[in-house]
Amino acid sequence: MEFGLSEDQLAIRDAVRDVCQKFPGEYWRGLEASGAYPEEFVDTLNKLGWLSILIPEEYGGGGLGVLEAGVVLEEIHRSGANANACHAQMYTMGALLRHGSDEQKRRWLPEIAAGRLRLQAFGVTEPDAGSDSTQIRTRAERRGGDYVINGQKIYISRVEQSDLMLLLARTAPAPSPEQRASGLSVFLVDLREAGDAVETRRIPMMFNHHTYEVFISDLVVPAENLIGEEGRGFRHIIDGWNAERCLIASEAVGDARFFLDRASAYGREREVFGRPIGANQGVQFPLAQAYANTEAASLMRYQAATLFDQGRSCGAEANAAKLLASQASSQASQAAMLTLGGNGFAVEYDVERKFRETKLLEIAPVSNNLVLAFLGSHVLGLPRSY
Ligand SMILES: Cc1cc2nc3c(=O)[nH]c(=O)nc-3n(C[C@H](O)[C@H](O)[C@H](O)COP(=O)(O)OP(=O)(O)OC[C@H]3O[C@@H](n4cnc5c(N)ncnc54)[C@H](O)[C@@H]3O)c2cc1C
Repeated sequence: MEFGLSEDQLAIRDAVRDVCQKFPGEYWRGLEASGAYPEEFVDTLNKLGWLSILIPEEYGGGGLGVLEAGVVLEEIHRSGANANACHAQMYTMGALLRHGSDEQKRRWLPEIAAGRLRLQAFGVTEPDAGSDSTQIRTRAERRGGDYVINGQKIYISRVEQSDLMLLLARTAPAPSPEQRASGLSVFLVDLREAGDAVETRRIPMMFNHHTYEVFISDLVVPAENLIGEEGRGFRHIIDGWNAERCLIASEAVGDARFFLDRASAYGREREVFGRPIGANQGVQFPLAQAYANTEAASLMRYQAATLFDQGRSCGAEANAAKLLASQASSQASQAAMLTLGGNGFAVEYDVERKFRETKLLEIAPVSNNLVLAFLGSHVLGLPRSY
């Protein structure tokens, strides 16, 4: 059994590491102070093709799998950067690749792969529908060759930084409470043509993230932008969820390794009472525990991604990987904050910023409670709570 990365995968990791070195802590701190979007970072990744790694080669992408995409995201996070500004292109790609028509793929994928179009927005959550996405109220009505969409979304990230948005809307009422996932459809909305039909309001967050309330009024979307089958959109979206869970897990593993790198270096150097603080078990053991948690989560993430890329079922592994990796990162972030003492709170060390950033991975795009509920009901056969 082979657990390590291949030469090619290691080369990807090293290449992304080199790029990220050009965007050190000062860059991210500067953006946080002004609340600006990391345009230069995203443009650089786009130009180098790292964000289109999942797009097949025939459309100009990297033609690689979720495992390699995870290597890219892990390295971004390990460097102290944050892929939140641009990872949606990877998360949303599954719906387009698996359910888009040939014509849609020919139309959109080469432009996305070339970095000329950004598919960075994914509109699912609404004020009254978060974990239970089937309860969304945004409606799309067929009128001739178009759909007319009305509704409201919340926490939709990067809408103002994206050209395209994948949008979930209801096209028919659910036939029964048991079939509440029926009647939902997915659209590729060209935000450049939306005009006043899409209004956005930025939501201030605890870290520098670009997420918005979105108000949709009589938005006209050509029927040719429906992805997959009308009424089966929820199924099309959940097909991509296992990939998303593997990718989130990779980001969390990257964050955890960032905290371990920084805290271990600090623990070796900082002397108190005449010896390095890292010699004290109260400092050393939480870091050692975080290391063990992170390595275990990383292996689960590799297993889940490998199964996904082989087209095999991986719901249990992908969910477990997301859970374990986000918990490992959270625990590593606490250990790092305490190791740095007062300096943990100082902006210049970047640990407090990453501490705030990594918290999100326990909640979005799916909360760990819902991951546990999935494992409990689908894997262990216990009664459903959702
Ligand atoms: C920074 C940020 C960016 C985001 N970006 C996007 C985006 O781009 N697109 C998008 O569509 N959405 C986005 N979201 C929304 C995100 O996906 C939701 O916040 C998440 O799915 C949780 O939904 P909720 O906030 O409505 O929580 P709720 O569904 O209201 O849940 C609240 C709490 O109750 C718990 N809970 C609910 N039901 C159960 C149950 N049966 N058992 C146990 N516990 C339960 C949950 O675990 C959670 O802790 C973003 C959110 C944030 C914070």
